[in-house]
Amino acid sequence: MKTLTKNPKLLPSLVCSILGHKFEITKKVTYYVKEYKCSHCKKQVTTNSNGNLIQLTPKRKEINYILERVHKKKTKQLKEGRPYS
Ligand SMILES: [Zn+2]
Repeated sequence: MKTLTKNPKLLPSLVCSILGHKFEITKKVTYYVKEYKCSHCKKQVTTNSNGNLIQLTPKRKEINYILERVHKKKTKQLKEGRPYS
């Protein structure tokens, strides 16, 4: 007879559905937009313009890439003392 013992190899997605995802920052795009990855199920999400977490799709990655470039340009200009318009 099989006994129900603690199974250390629970499905990661099951752990997440019970405990919620454990997101870790993988990339800082801007001050407000970041990319995260769940350390359990490896699900990737990002912050959208409303500050909500949404799934990180290839399209979103592209948007974040552009955002990052614009952000870096702005911060570089700020460091050089030039106000951006
Ligand atoms: Zn997860």
